[in-house]
Amino acid sequence: MASAAALWFGDLFGLSSGDKMSAVPLRNNKATAAAVRSITVLGATGSIGDSTMDLLRGAPERYRVEALTGNSNVQGLAKLAREFSPRFVAVADPARLNELREALAGTGIACGAGESAIIEAAARPADWVMAAVSGAAGLKPALAAVDRGATVALANKECLVCAGDMFMQRATKAGACILPADSEHNALFQALSSGNREELVRVIITASGGPFRTWKAADIEQATLAQALKHPNWSMGQKITIDSASMMNKGLEVIEASYLFALAPDEIDVLVHPQSIVHGMVEFSDRSVVAQLGAPDMRIPIAHCLGWPDRIKGPSARLDLAKIGSLTFEAPDFTRFPGLRLAYEALRTGHGATTVYNAANEVAVAAFIAGEIRFGAIARLVEATLDAWMRATNKSPLSSADDAIAIDHEARNKAATLLPQIALKAS
Ligand code: NAD
Ligand code: MG
Repeated sequence: MASAAALWFGDLFGLSSGDKMSAVPLRNNKATAAAVRSITVLGATGSIGDSTMDLLRGAPERYRVEALTGNSNVQGLAKLAREFSPRFVAVADPARLNELREALAGTGIACGAGESAIIEAAARPADWVMAAVSGAAGLKPALAAVDRGATVALANKECLVCAGDMFMQRATKAGACILPADSEHNALFQALSSGNREELVRVIITASGGPFRTWKAADIEQATLAQALKHPNWSMGQKITIDSASMMNKGLEVIEASYLFALAPDEIDVLVHPQSIVHGMVEFSDRSVVAQLGAPDMRIPIAHCLGWPDRIKGPSARLDLAKIGSLTFEAPDFTRFPGLRLAYEALRTGHGATTVYNAANEVAVAAFIAGEIRFGAIARLVEATLDAWMRATNKSPLSSADDAIAIDHEARNKAATLLPQIALKAS
């Protein structure tokens, strides 16, 4: 993998060394993947983790599992460990170490607990790491894999939104290879190699529009948790499902695309596409638009990352467009879904603002799940936190994970302080 990992997307796009660089590699100059790959899955017990383990299960002769991690679901983690025999298993909740030890008794598998154990799992020598912890908690573990120059399939978009420039610079410095696992970004990754930087006009990421796509603003305001969790196409973890309903997920993805591919905000468009078949498109100067299509099944982009630089046989259903019949597209509504507008504003403001956007959204989603705020208040809390942060002076650039985490904590505290007044305020 070393030769492929040393080739940057920036080379393809002819960026000078002073420009933003991306550690997303060039598909055309591929090397061949090792015969047996060692694999670590961070967030193995989650939705992306589940899809990843399913792919590994399909070709056990090709993969050896180095480490698996989870947050607190010890029994689920231990079940996976017994099936895949990793060398190391880590649970984030330090109080669960004994439970994990007991669940793995007699297997000879080493285990650990706490944030340091999750980072240790990422730092162990696996060729390929799936970064699928949810939220900003995924930043330090993903960086531990990046810093040792691993190939990292990145599902955890929050770590880019929280510290994108720094993350990509560290990846470039370490010779790490970042493979976009998020479906839209994976689609862009596949389409971008059809041209070069001067020829690129814009990228388009699609959005299903979520369960409230056709709802009136007043109804979205009052939406319940059960309604927000009913995603029309994708089956995902709770946080990202709520983010899809608010379109904050698309906002996070606009920011993610900017950092991954070194794109300006004006080069990234969002298009609502309720069928979720076209995941991303790239428009070039000759007006060719290159798209990637597939069923809404995360095993497809994950299989692309797992096979890269080759393609593996995937277990997902084949795309039957005749059966689907029609694909439709709509412009996004920035008024009913203000989270999307706020993402562009945060991205134009710069690094720290996207960190605040993400942190405030995590606080707002947790408060919505806890029944403390209405659905419509999620975006209001993010906006109020961003406004408060913009008014504050002393915005230094992010140069380390700790800088990003400090802003993340500051924003969480600010959001928590603003929460009671936002909760009382009607739309
Ligand atoms: P999930 O909630 O189903 O799973 C999250 C995983 O992270 C679990 O294994 C959980 O145990 C672990 N985890 C949670 N908090 C942790 C902590 N503090 N420390 C260590 N581990 C922790 O989430 P998901 O839907 O699988 O999403 C994971 C990431 O992938 C998110 O960043 C999400 O935005 C992104 N993503 C998900 C999908 C999808 O279809 N589910 C698609 C694209 C991107
Ligand atoms: Mg996505």
